[in-house]
Amino acid sequence: MTTPSARSPVARIAVGLLVLFVGLPSPARAQNSPALDPRIAALLEEISPDRMRGYLEVLTAFETRHTMSRGEGPDRGIEAAADYILETLRSFSTRLQAELDCYEIPAWGRVPDQAEICNVIAVLPGRTDRRVYVTGHYDTVARREETGRFDWTRWDNPAPGANDDGSGTVLTMELARVFAESGIDFDATLVFGALAGEEEGLVGATLHAQRAARDSLRIDGVWNNDIIGNSLGGNGVVDSRTVRVFAEGPEDSMSRQMARHIRRWAEAYQPGHEIRLIAREDRFGRGGDHTAFNRLGFPGVRFSESRENYSRQHTAADTLGGVDFGYLARNARANAASVATVALAPPAPVVDAGRGTMLGRGESGYAAHLRWRESPGAVGYRIVWRETWGPDWENEIFVGPGTEHVFEGISIDDYTFGIAAVGPGGHESLVHPYVRPPRGYTPIREVGR
Ligand SMILES: [Zn+2]
Repeated sequence: MTTPSARSPVARIAVGLLVLFVGLPSPARAQNSPALDPRIAALLEEISPDRMRGYLEVLTAFETRHTMSRGEGPDRGIEAAADYILETLRSFSTRLQAELDCYEIPAWGRVPDQAEICNVIAVLPGRTDRRVYVTGHYDTVARREETGRFDWTRWDNPAPGANDDGSGTVLTMELARVFAESGIDFDATLVFGALAGEEEGLVGATLHAQRAARDSLRIDGVWNNDIIGNSLGGNGVVDSRTVRVFAEGPEDSMSRQMARHIRRWAEAYQPGHEIRLIAREDRFGRGGDHTAFNRLGFPGVRFSESRENYSRQHTAADTLGGVDFGYLARNARANAASVATVALAPPAPVVDAGRGTMLGRGESGYAAHLRWRESPGAVGYRIVWRETWGPDWENEIFVGPGTEHVFEGISIDDYTFGIAAVGPGGHESLVHPYVRPPRGYTPIREVGR
């Protein structure tokens, strides 16, 4: 397809006429395969399954990382685990600023008594303050063997949590290492978070996100990884070549833009490892830390393995043997490729400044007139569009510097448009979509007095 709706002969003729007489600026086409950056490819190569196994051997040896298992000494419980994660992050690079991010809370939800909740957060400063997160949760829980149920007041049973969510935790640690050691000067500030209290109701993520909202931090996306290393489903189905990315709606939320970006870039850098986009916040009856960020308006998605083994989760059987480290490494690379691209790109252009979406019908009244605010550092912009009924962007053109573009003869009612900023190295920001607000929308040409 070359331009919107070039399917029918009539449309083709119409499009031909447009090109001839109105002059579409350049032939539009299906999405290009992106240009790869050898530095990002090298960074992906550095991701080591053996190192992740090493971290996870230590984490599971603490026997439990239950939220209440503090004060159990250096060899057992969550406090020892937090210290290990913190010291390991600090050992990687002096560029990584690793700290405990602690909160005193009263009895809360499944937390039976007052408690201290400590996330472990490592910041890799970029040229700007805008933040990109990679997260997993390091706390664990296991049902009582006697009853098969949870008892949130007890933590004397083993809860190794190798896959839930030791896998996401060690993925996050390994990405912290390779990003810090890469020596690449990222535009965005990268934040690697081993989060706490997930099993009790996203407690650590919620407290951190609330603090970020209070401090008006700009968070461009949260790449959350939870249950990410198992390739053998409980039903016997093996799948080590696909991974799911769950993203909340609506269809043009920034979380969905993250999902589209992740598929585009992760598959470009790692062909053969398929990103399966799931148009849902999470699985049925289950949740994760990305949702704590989503609730406060921050974009975030969840990476999770394609085939789960429910019989191991939240039991003493969630051990190292249930983690496929080759698969975990491929999922880590999928994260790293998409994170590095966003972090190297300029910020996404603003398309909804002031009184609404900066999309109008142009001088003729029958065009698609896109405007945007200039993105600092951008050498151009990638304009994308799709049928309104389509799940992913279908067409694109690249335009150079500037802050507007007109598609003559194209109705803004019939397509969904979006725009990404492109940096000098070809790195692309997330797409900012031109969405039609629920009501009261006035096209820009008619805005004003
Ligand atoms: Zn989990």
